[in-house]
Amino acid sequence: MSGKILEIDNLTVSFDGFKAINQLNFSMDEGELRVVIGPNGAGKTTFMDVITGKTKPTEGQVFFKGKNLRPYAEHEIAQMGIGRKFQTPRVYLKLTPRENLELSCARPKSVFSSLFGRTSMAERRTVVGILETIGLITKADIPAELLSHGEKQRLEIGMLVAQSPDLLLVDEPVAGLTDEETEKVGDLLLALAESHSIMVIEHDMEFVRQIARTVTVLHQGSVLCEGNMDEVQTDPRVIEVYLGKQQEETPKAA
Ligand code: ADP
Ligand code: MG
Repeated sequence: MSGKILEIDNLTVSFDGFKAINQLNFSMDEGELRVVIGPNGAGKTTFMDVITGKTKPTEGQVFFKGKNLRPYAEHEIAQMGIGRKFQTPRVYLKLTPRENLELSCARPKSVFSSLFGRTSMAERRTVVGILETIGLITKADIPAELLSHGEKQRLEIGMLVAQSPDLLLVDEPVAGLTDEETEKVGDLLLALAESHSIMVIEHDMEFVRQIARTVTVLHQGSVLCEGNMDEVQTDPRVIEVYLGKQQEETPKAA
């Protein structure tokens, strides 16, 4: 075992000749919490699309736990243990948080057990554990539509965890959240990082400061630099291409 959960080798993704990802090399250790930042158009979402199999590489390879993902379809890659949370919450609004989580637990089961099985005791315990972790135990049985945006985000992160993926990919989890909600999502990701490998894509620099250990900066489809928050923040190339723009775009980060 290499101890690498993800290794990306000379990856290029072209859209009609435009390289959204350009000869990108990247690796992430098992158990790591990695934050990926970069200005709009840097290729961050495309990067996640390639890891999950939604988009196939034009050149290069993605290895998940040493296995080349190229031959596999998106749903197969999900079954292998890569879970993705999209930017907007996708919870069932008429169902309660508990019911949403029970459904997520049930997903990898066979058709037979999904049709005829009921939620097992073990699953119910798992769901209670997740409700505690995401801070929604007191709201477990109200319709999810009554949750705040931040609570829905935490519920969806919980739904991702319920599928017990080996690698969690989280795309901009705090966009549109209040400062208080942002901090709660940060605390949740830090708690989950104790037992999961997690990659977070984010714009909000306050939030990145809260959770970041190693930060990868993408620019024009390649890794511009990588390091801890202090190293990245003081790198003149980053200040030029990212932080300068960030301050114009989001006054919150200034
Ligand atoms: P980010 O998430 O960092 O903002 P994206 O990965 O969404 O960046 O996009 C990177 C670049 O690739 C952008 O210039 C975008 O316009 C382009 N792009 C993304 N998806 C497609 C596509 N399906 N077809 C053509 N161009 C695309
Ligand atoms: Mg994006």
